[in-house]
Amino acid sequence: MNVMDIFKTMEYGPAPEAAAPALEWIKEQQPFGLFINNQWVKPASGQYLDSINPSTGKPLAQIAAANSADVDIAVAAARTAFESWGQTPGHVRARYLYAIARHIQKHSRLLAVLETLDNGKSIRETRDLDIPLVARHFYYHAGWAQLMASELPGYEPVGVVGQIIPWNFPLLMMAWKIAPALAMGNTVVLKPARYTSLTALKFAEIVQEVALPAGVVNILTGEASQVGEALVRHPGVNKIAFTGSTDVGRSIRRATAGSGKKLSLELGGKSPFIVFDDADLDSVVEGVVDAIWFNQGQVCCAGSRLLVQEDIAGRLINKLRARMEKLRIGDPLDKAVDMGAIVSPGQLQEIQRLVSQGVEEGAEIWQPSWACPTEGYFFPPTLFTNVSPAATIAQVEIFGPVLVSMTFRTPAEAVALANNTRYGLAASVWSENINLALDVAPKLKAGTVWINCTNMFDASSGFGGYRESGFGREGGKEGLYEYVRPAWEKVGLTAPAPASSSNGSSPSGDGHANAAQFNATDTTPDDIIDSSNGFTPTLPAIDRTPKMFIKGKQVRPDSGYSQDVYDPEHRLIGQVGEGNRKDIRNAVEAAHAASGWAAGTTHNRAQILYYMAENLAVREEEFARRIVQQTGRSSADAANEVETTISRLFSYAAWADKYEGVVHRPPLRGVVLAMHEPIGVIGMACPDEYPLLGFISLVAPAIAMGNTVVVIPSQQSPLSATDCYQVFETSDLPAGVVNIVTGERDTLSQVLADHDDVDAMWYFGPAEGSKRVELASAGNMKRTRVNYGHSRNWLDNVQGEGEEFLRESTQVKNIWVPYGE
Ligand code: NAD
Ligand code: MN
Repeated sequence: MNVMDIFKTMEYGPAPEAAAPALEWIKEQQPFGLFINNQWVKPASGQYLDSINPSTGKPLAQIAAANSADVDIAVAAARTAFESWGQTPGHVRARYLYAIARHIQKHSRLLAVLETLDNGKSIRETRDLDIPLVARHFYYHAGWAQLMASELPGYEPVGVVGQIIPWNFPLLMMAWKIAPALAMGNTVVLKPARYTSLTALKFAEIVQEVALPAGVVNILTGEASQVGEALVRHPGVNKIAFTGSTDVGRSIRRATAGSGKKLSLELGGKSPFIVFDDADLDSVVEGVVDAIWFNQGQVCCAGSRLLVQEDIAGRLINKLRARMEKLRIGDPLDKAVDMGAIVSPGQLQEIQRLVSQGVEEGAEIWQPSWACPTEGYFFPPTLFTNVSPAATIAQVEIFGPVLVSMTFRTPAEAVALANNTRYGLAASVWSENINLALDVAPKLKAGTVWINCTNMFDASSGFGGYRESGFGREGGKEGLYEYVRPAWEKVGLTAPAPASSSNGSSPSGDGHANAAQFNATDTTPDDIIDSSNGFTPTLPAIDRTPKMFIKGKQVRPDSGYSQDVYDPEHRLIGQVGEGNRKDIRNAVEAAHAASGWAAGTTHNRAQILYYMAENLAVREEEFARRIVQQTGRSSADAANEVETTISRLFSYAAWADKYEGVVHRPPLRGVVLAMHEPIGVIGMACPDEYPLLGFISLVAPAIAMGNTVVVIPSQQSPLSATDCYQVFETSDLPAGVVNIVTGERDTLSQVLADHDDVDAMWYFGPAEGSKRVELASAGNMKRTRVNYGHSRNWLDNVQGEGEEFLRESTQVKNIWVPYGE
């Protein structure tokens, strides 16, 4: 072949990166120990596991197999280290994080090669993307450590954090976990993925190099069943941060339910890649390559569903096939290779299985004509056309280089198709019409939306999911809140639940006990209308039995039963409907139907909240009397509760048009719009302590941020909430925004927490009920907010209102908008 021939074909020659320095490092270090207290220790089991090089299928290194005994030691080390690290000034922590970032850069090539050897991903990606983003993450969070005291006043570190990460971006996921945890003053026990532990072990060396205090970072390698599960269940761990599959995320949600451990879950996805007919198709083709063949498609936010406008589908598919034919697959250390190996034989089989299923279900498969290397675990880029939206391959995360394509006609159809998934991690939108793109972006149920770009990441812009893609964010300021808690909230892991009831006896939630008390006091129904003045009134009082409040209407309970309401002396003071499953379902449906609330203006929402305050103020005395009647508290006390409630409505009216999100400037030409979006339908069980204030303290922030709600008022004292119906009716609140179902808190909460169309559940009640809510929420991965039986001071503006409530009412969507042609 002469120069002319080479020029004609433009074939790349091999350009392998040298593996020798990394292999040498492995040889010197192995078998690797566990990293605890800044020291290398042997695993209690005495056992080691092979880590494989997926591009050869050959063993690369021996890593230690930790078990629960090692977890105990590591957690104890982290606990001890937390005593001082948690008190270390932000500036000192910033210096450590800065040093770590510098050392990542100093060892960048070794880390990149190690990552490629261990994971099989191409050196171009590890060198140009993974490792630079790792360094950036530590720099960025050095800044937050420095600023924590001034920017997050009133917050404290959580304590010891257990962190569990997947194999697809081993060092990057580790950075996403460790950097914010350390910045906020926590200590860490981290478990890398079984197949890809080596860069985390190299990172441990960096921890030693920068002389981070011993025990702040501990790294345990090994099997999920031995290390991961023990970490999740360990009582000395205050928070679990997990990235991985939705199934494992669900099991972790269940395992931690009721424990009081904070939890963030970054789970799977099936992200849409939407192409409108006015898009620049050549850019689109390169975008698709990045979306689904980057990292062999083993990317949680991979654009794995190609949605193309019908009139250009044929053209785009042809261009795409031509491009696929030119993709280069092979030795990932070769700098001219586009695609490397699949991480493990198991993962490869899973991809093959799903691809076969796609073919069986009738979709049309296309693969390039060339063959993959036979040594190692390779799979070719694959394109499915003629895919039905309900097909397995259109619904299930394949986590491999497999793209499924579907067509749409109108923007509305594109949005519907895009959202036709239980996931909600990311989406990209391609159109030369920025108006169209910016109109579509907010309608997509996804934590990140890329406009005319894809798979862009930066520490400044939070990343995380909607729906079954999990909850919590990594990166951005929002990511910091995953690693702190309000200073006032000293929730001990095993602290007993204090009685939350205002009259000293916790409500039993058991209708029979109430009935017994009812009989014991010898009250008869006549007493309800008895004027207590010794003779029978000439006119009986008009019965005022509050019904349910659903879709803006007062409706009778489906059950046809009522529940008695007592004062603290066990005198009957009224009755409310006994809500059941059916009432909750109707209420959820009504809340969904009212989703237009979110699309309205924030100004309008503010106006309605002010109006509610106004209408409540008109009836201040009546509401105060009702509180006295239900709780036996003094009139002054009750008046104060009403006053505070009115003020609280004002606060959220104020916030409605002010809790707005930010614009990020990541290192690219463009901006990222971090929007605060409502979560959707929020179910809530109100605290018993303050029948009116507790109710409004939950409802007001949620609706101020555009959510619609289904509320279970205080079981013990529901009448303050039911008295609000008229306030709502006279305040222009659209039907279905607030729905109220009275009845047994725990029965109704269970229905809400189980309901797949409820997006979040807040629960203020006993510890047992908190646990049940967290358990049930694992079904559709709804966000939860529970009090584990602890009470807070609702009168206090720090505990009872403010940013915490707004944060719980929103999720951040990051919309990436690059500039330029
Ligand atoms: P996985 O869920 O099997 O494992 C993830 C980690 O959890 C591993 O370290 C594993 O050892 C550990 N683990 C497994 N079972 C456990 C258990 N019962 N208790 C505690 N720990 C346990 O996922 P994977 O196959 O390693 O990674 C692929 C998945 O990760 C994909 O679904 C992908 O979408 C997801 N992912 C999500 C993100 C994100 O940010 N949302 C990022 C990367 C990957
Ligand atoms: Mn490996």
